[in-house]
Amino acid sequence: MAPVSSQALAAFEAAVGKANVLTAPAALEPYRDTHSFHWGEAGEARAAAAVLPASAEEVAAVVNTANQFKVALYPTSGGQNQLYGGAAGATGGVILDLKRMNRILAVDAGRNVALVEPGVTYFELYKHIKDKGLKVWLDVPDPGWGSMVGNALDHGVGYTYGGFRDHFGSACGMEVVTPTGEILRTGMGALPGSGSWQDFAYGAGPDVAGLMGQGGFGIVTKMGFKLMPQPEAWLNGFASCQHYDDFDAMVRAIGHLEDAGIVTGRSVWTCTAYHPFEGNLPTGERRPGRAELMAKGWPSLPEIVKHARQHGGHAWRVNMQFYGPRETVEAQWAHVQDYVAANVREATFQYIETLDLPLTPEQEKRFARGAFGLPTLASFGQPSLAMFEKTAKDIEEEEEHAPGQTFTDFLAVVSRTAAAFMRAQQVLFESQIEAGVPWTVTPYQPPLCWFPRAFLIGAPVIALTKGTPDANAKARRLYGIYLKNMTAAGFAPYRASPAMQDLLAGSFSYNDNALLRFHERLKDAADPNGVIAPGRYGVWPKAMRKGRR
Ligand SMILES: Cc1cc2nc3c(=O)[nH]c(=O)nc-3n(C[C@H](O)[C@H](O)[C@H](O)COP(=O)(O)OP(=O)(O)OC[C@H]3O[C@@H](n4cnc5c(N)ncnc54)[C@H](O)[C@@H]3O)c2cc1C
Repeated sequence: MAPVSSQALAAFEAAVGKANVLTAPAALEPYRDTHSFHWGEAGEARAAAAVLPASAEEVAAVVNTANQFKVALYPTSGGQNQLYGGAAGATGGVILDLKRMNRILAVDAGRNVALVEPGVTYFELYKHIKDKGLKVWLDVPDPGWGSMVGNALDHGVGYTYGGFRDHFGSACGMEVVTPTGEILRTGMGALPGSGSWQDFAYGAGPDVAGLMGQGGFGIVTKMGFKLMPQPEAWLNGFASCQHYDDFDAMVRAIGHLEDAGIVTGRSVWTCTAYHPFEGNLPTGERRPGRAELMAKGWPSLPEIVKHARQHGGHAWRVNMQFYGPRETVEAQWAHVQDYVAANVREATFQYIETLDLPLTPEQEKRFARGAFGLPTLASFGQPSLAMFEKTAKDIEEEEEHAPGQTFTDFLAVVSRTAAAFMRAQQVLFESQIEAGVPWTVTPYQPPLCWFPRAFLIGAPVIALTKGTPDANAKARRLYGIYLKNMTAAGFAPYRASPAMQDLLAGSFSYNDNALLRFHERLKDAADPNGVIAPGRYGVWPKAMRKGRR
């Protein structure tokens, strides 16, 4: 790509107005990636300019200018995509910041759908719904300030009911400015006058909406979302098993109940012998029990079972949440107890409470907000609380563990089976040993359930190492080791920072990289000058591919 010339900047200014083209270093500072793997080094992506259009037509004009001057545009919907690359794109590129496009175009509480522009944040749509007294819920991720469109396009996830937690999966209908500057609509939106744009995603023929997620195939200027009807009540209860090796039976039982639509909320697993920063006391010393268990490497199942027993209590505990009318959630909870008791030996249950919805303002303060679709920034002040749905009681129990907990920015997808999960834990632990960093993964780390049918398992990277060039290098090495070992075992992250996207995309190499080669052919055809986010998830335009693989 050519450096951004003064002629290109003048053409951007003509398209969006002088005040909406930023080049001063101070104005570009907020676009830096605060979690960069190259923070403060030459390799850190630093944009040359930011351009802020106000309409799809202005976006199209900016794209036309980018083609004329061969400038790379990196779209952001105004958020910061923290942990996954920020907004910076690549050095010398131009940020296409869509935060001025922040109109809420429609919210239909009868059809339970919304249509928004990219700059609309979770806070803004929530306020709109509340002000208008509409009886629909959002599903929110931790950053309430973030863009709904940005989060969905990076395959983000949230905290409420089943499929709504998968934000790209619950999107329906997009308007897109293509890399050649045309404005298209996907699905039923391509049918002039269609009223079902937000109801039926596919239209007729191939569905190109998928190319926009983690894609670099267009700039989304409108996006529809399916919303959840406001439920009447929320029930919260725990099921526990007494034996560590009954994890398999528990996973099967809960998976059955989730897929059958009985357990409707997000399941939150814990292992009673679990500590979020395994092995470390808040003072930094090793926890004696855990250190003993892990001293000779990954322990055998009998060793784990014995050790878990010494720690007493339930071996695995899953917190389940149910949304719907009171009678329905109570019947679901009753069935859960019958089903789990019939399939897991010595299972026990703890009913916590049923709350009528919406919550009172007092209750809103008491409970983790994500489970109720309430946007928040709580996790930014207290990272330790971000990983769990909580009752007040849980918070009390877990706060004692807070000091060591940190973010898991290597988050891999694992099939929802005990065998796969245990294997992934072992691979992560062995990767930490290989990298020579303090181990955090033990057989007691629980699976995370944001996506409805898959487990995620995480391990920290940046939080362990970020800061100086040395620490950055350590972080990159650690990430590389996780990725090498996990992908060799058949597991991979579902998202990555741009610094790691080539590596990640290169791991999806089935049949001599057939998928990546197909993506490249599509990129070459759709974006001949490679002006939209070149390199996003490993897909480079032809002119920039040489020597990369
Ligand atoms: C403490 C903490 C907690 C977090 N918790 C969560 C969580 O609960 N769930 C979760 O999913 N993530 C989480 N994240 C990760 C991330 O910050 C969020 O996913 C965030 O919501 C991403 O959205 P954004 O508005 O910042 O995205 P943006 O930066 O606006 O967009 C994300 C990316 O999508 C692409 N994109 C954006 N807009 C467009 C467009 N209009 N057209 C084409 N491409 C576009 C760009 O590549 C962009 O970099 C967390 C991060 C931190 C630091």
